[in-house]
Order: sequence, then C-alpha cells, then structure tokens
Amino acid sequence: MPLSRLWISIGVWLVMTAIATAAPIKALIVDGQNAHNWKETTPILKQLLEETDLFSVDVATTPPKGKDFSQFRPTFAAYDLVVLNYQGDDWPEATQKAFVDYVNNGGGVVCYHFAAAAFPKWREYNQIIGVGGWGNRDETAGPYLCWREGKIVRATEPPGKAGFHGPQQTFQVVVRDPDHPITRGLPKAFMHTADELYCRLRGPAENVTVLATAFAPKQKGGSDEHEPMLMTITYGKGRVFHTALGHAGEHLKSVAFSATFQRGAEWAATGKVTQPVPADFPSPNKASVRQITAKPSRSADQWVVYEGGDGPGKGKHVVLVSGGEEYRSEQMLPQLGKILADRHGFKCTVLFAVDPATGMIDPTCCSNIPGLEALDSADLMIIFTRFRDLPDRQMRHIVEYVASGKPIVGIRTATHAFNIPAGKTYAMYSFNSKDWKGGFGRQILGETWIRHHGSHGKESTRGVVAPGAENNPIVRGCEDIWGPTDVYTVRLPLPGDSKPLVLGQVLSGMKPTDKPLEDPKNDPMMPVAWTKTYQGAQGQTGRVFTTTMGSGPDFLSEGFRRLLVNAVYWCVGLEDKIPLRAEVGFVGRYEPSPFGYFEKKDATVKPSDHAM
Ligand SMILES: [Zn+2]
Repeated sequence: MPLSRLWISIGVWLVMTAIATAAPIKALIVDGQNAHNWKETTPILKQLLEETDLFSVDVATTPPKGKDFSQFRPTFAAYDLVVLNYQGDDWPEATQKAFVDYVNNGGGVVCYHFAAAAFPKWREYNQIIGVGGWGNRDETAGPYLCWREGKIVRATEPPGKAGFHGPQQTFQVVVRDPDHPITRGLPKAFMHTADELYCRLRGPAENVTVLATAFAPKQKGGSDEHEPMLMTITYGKGRVFHTALGHAGEHLKSVAFSATFQRGAEWAATGKVTQPVPADFPSPNKASVRQITAKPSRSADQWVVYEGGDGPGKGKHVVLVSGGEEYRSEQMLPQLGKILADRHGFKCTVLFAVDPATGMIDPTCCSNIPGLEALDSADLMIIFTRFRDLPDRQMRHIVEYVASGKPIVGIRTATHAFNIPAGKTYAMYSFNSKDWKGGFGRQILGETWIRHHGSHGKESTRGVVAPGAENNPIVRGCEDIWGPTDVYTVRLPLPGDSKPLVLGQVLSGMKPTDKPLEDPKNDPMMPVAWTKTYQGAQGQTGRVFTTTMGSGPDFLSEGFRRLLVNAVYWCVGLEDKIPLRAEVGFVGRYEPSPFGYFEKKDATVKPSDHAM
C-alpha cells in the first residue's frame, strides 16, 4: 500500500472512531405555550443538556394559542429524547399519535414541571407522565402518590382537585430509591432552593417509580404528605423521567434541579447515567446554586442566513464558517454569502466566533462557533477559521461533515483551522497532529501551516494562473487577482491529486502596481489556489478547493472574488454552469477593516448586523 493511501486509511479509521465515541443523544425540547415562562426556561434547559457534551438539542415551538396547528408535526422518531416544556392547546391527532408511537417504540421523555398540567383529557399522555394536575383534573383522573410508613402508596382519599402548591419555599428532597441510575451516588437527602412544592398530582399512576419525595407541610399550603418530586415511568418500550421541580429560570440554577434533570434526561434516552455526581451537589441541609451564563435568548441570532434567490445555486445550501483573529473572515464571509445568495441563488448560512457572554462577534473567542449543526444539511462547507479549539458538541458537526465526503472550500488560515490539545476527542484535526499528520489542513485541504513565504505586511501577492490551468473553468474571468496578504509557503509538490490553479507572485510592496520580487521567492512560485479530492469515511470522493489567499481587503479584488465564486460552482458539481464572467458585485456596502490582530474593543458587531 502506498504511504499516502495508508494515511488516508488511518485517517478514515480515526474519523470513524471519533464519531463512534462522540455520537450524541438527539434531544428535542417542545415548547410554544405554557402558563409558565417557556421563553426563559427553554434556552436554559437546552444549555443544561448541551453542557453535558452528551446531547445535541433542537427545539420545536408550537403555534401560539388558538392558531392553526395543522403544520405542527415534529419528527419525534428522529430523536432519542423529548423534553416536554409545553402546556396549552391540543396537538393535532396525527401529532399525538406520532408522540405515543415514539414512546411506545422506546423513545425517552422528560416531563418538566408544568408539563404535568398539559392535556388533561389525553389518556395516553397521562399514562406517559404518570400523574398530572390542574386543567380541572380531580379524583376522576386517578389516585395520587405519596410516601407513608416506609413505602409509596396510591391514595384515593380524600377526593378533590389534582395539583396545587403553597407559596414558594425551600425544601429537602429525600431519595426513596437509591439504587436507580438517576439517584445512585446522590446523598440520601438534599436541599432545593425556594420553589413551588407540587401536591396531589393525580393520574393513572401506572408503572411509576418514585425516586424522591419532599414533605409539604400544611402550614405552608401543602398536603401534609411526602409528595413525589422525581419519578420514572415506563410506557411501552419508552422511559420517562418526571420532575416536579423548576418553576422558572432562577429555579433552574439550583443544582438539585439541574443535576437531576441532566441525569434523568440521560437515563430516559439511554437507560444509563454516565455523568458523575457534581462536586457542588447540595447536602441534606444546604442548597447549592450554580450561575448559568447568559446566552442570547434565540439561538438564530448567533448566526445569519441568506435565503437564496433564483440562480444556478437554487436548492443548494452553503455553510460559511468564519473565526480567525487576523484576516477579517468575519467581514469577508458574510459578503461572500450575500454574493452567493443574491447573485447566484445559493442558500447561505454564515457562522461566527461569538462571545457567549455578550453575543458579539469576537474572533479571539476560539472555543465557540454556534450554529455548526447547519452543516448537517449543507451541500458545501466554506471554512476560514484559525487555530480553533471547539467543544466536542460543535466540532462533531465538522468531523461528521468531512466523514460524509462532501465538498469543502478552505481559505487561507484554514490550513491551520484547528489547534486542539492532544488527548481531546478531535485532537487529530489539529494543525500539528502527529497521528493524522498535519491534521485537517494537510489531510483534507492539502497543506498545514508552514510559514510566511512573502514578507507579512510588506510584500503583497499577485495571483497568476498556473501553467496548464488556463482552461480550468474555476479561473474563468479571473485576470486580475491581487491581495495585500502575503504568499504562504507550501511543500512541493502538493499531496495526492492536487492541481495548482493559481500561483502567488511575491510583489515588492503593498500596492497592486508594485513590481514582482526578483528573488528565489518567485522561483518557483508557490501555489496559492488548487483543487484536490479527499475520501469520506465510506470512501466517497469529496471535492476540495483551497486558497491560501484571503482577507477582508483581499476580497476587494474582483478576480479573487470570482475565483471563489467559480470554485463554489465547481465544488458542488455545477462546473458546467460557471458563467463567462460570474457576477461578483458587492451586495450592500463592503468596507473591510485592514488585516491585523483583532482587538476585543472592536467586538461591537452582532451576527444579525450582517442580515441582508
Ligand atoms: Zn410553576
């Protein structure tokens, strides 16, 4: 086996291993109506799941009260877990049936707090959640559960309404089943912060295991019973975790809520709990509160989508991933996305490095690019990042995209797109990876970071079509390529089936009219744009276009813009549709900043500021 093939095989094997160990639990939170503040709690529930690095989370939001529900049909079957944060209008019959089928077939469910009040008349729903309250439920809904004299009893007396609570109060939660995966290892009792203490939930109460109870004293508006707070229910092949805790956002900071919610969600989805008990778990006498970092409330605000118009790209989805401190990818890629969408019909999703604390674009924030799940439905990834070290839950989407063998455009610093410490799940993607030599850059794009070839900031780059590439449709109409960034060194020849398209002529200065250096730097000239292919995990052939040019100011060059737009056509198999002179006029204003290290004080732009 030739050495290069060997590397490809090892690389593919590593990619597949990485996916196998990081396969996430797919979770869906359902919200949209609730007498409680679902707009506040859903993002927190989502974050609590995501921070375990076990879940990928989608949200399905119903229409508002009284509106047409006929289109509300989430594909429950595509998920391992459904978190119910909903109480409101009835779902359409087909949606109800799909949900019941989902649970019957082994789907996991978390019934969170006031979801216990939803759907009083839907028989299967009440069987799935075990017990519920409000919605005019009374003794006809079934018995209530409580702990008396060392065991859980199903009580029918006294009759009366189902579901009430006194004023918010701190209370102790007592574990009644310490051998369940959710409660195993927890203290025998633990304090919760002031919250509503639900009393007398009634229902079919079949196949319910009460994991933990809390005493609701009469003088504080309670039932004077030990009320169930954490329960599990089995329904068909499905597992349900029911928590009565967590009235509003501030109650979700209580570790008594968050840790049991995270554990219960994992158990409902998988039947196991792999999460350790956190060090800050509350004691029998002292509650524990954890601050939850504020995030922009609606995740779509963290990136920008340009719906494509008419054009050859119609129906194709391009995901552009920015995130580099030096070359203004956060300015260049939104403009490239606008041109691709507005002039050529591609749907474009542009992602950014976002400071999670402020929601602002901040290229120095190397560990957060929200929205990478857009890659799951992408036809092309354009990546222009530098030295990122993303959490597994984000990185996973890039790795799965590459494993799928779909096409890739890599721009400039993408040769060193990732800098991931050894030992982390996706360390093989790092620019300095030893196992998969040179990481994503070398293995997929054709080169990793070597060094500056032209003098950085002193010698600009003239793009010259490579001998033999004159008839390649990607360079069509690209007579004038110039950029103030310098040429990068690459090792010659480039690996595999790489074909140089454009060579970088090092100029003696920073103006397009400056003379070429008469110097070994231009003999030979380095390729600055090439095509190649790579293999996905199943041996699929993916097209790659790499350019080591690129910056906000480089994108002012019409020839460079056309080169990128033509490359997009070629990557997605539309090379027959590459125009004689692709339309690359700017969409709206384009006034890029000079390249140079990003300063935090400039983090004043939000992703939505790039809306078209
Ligand atoms: Zn409540």
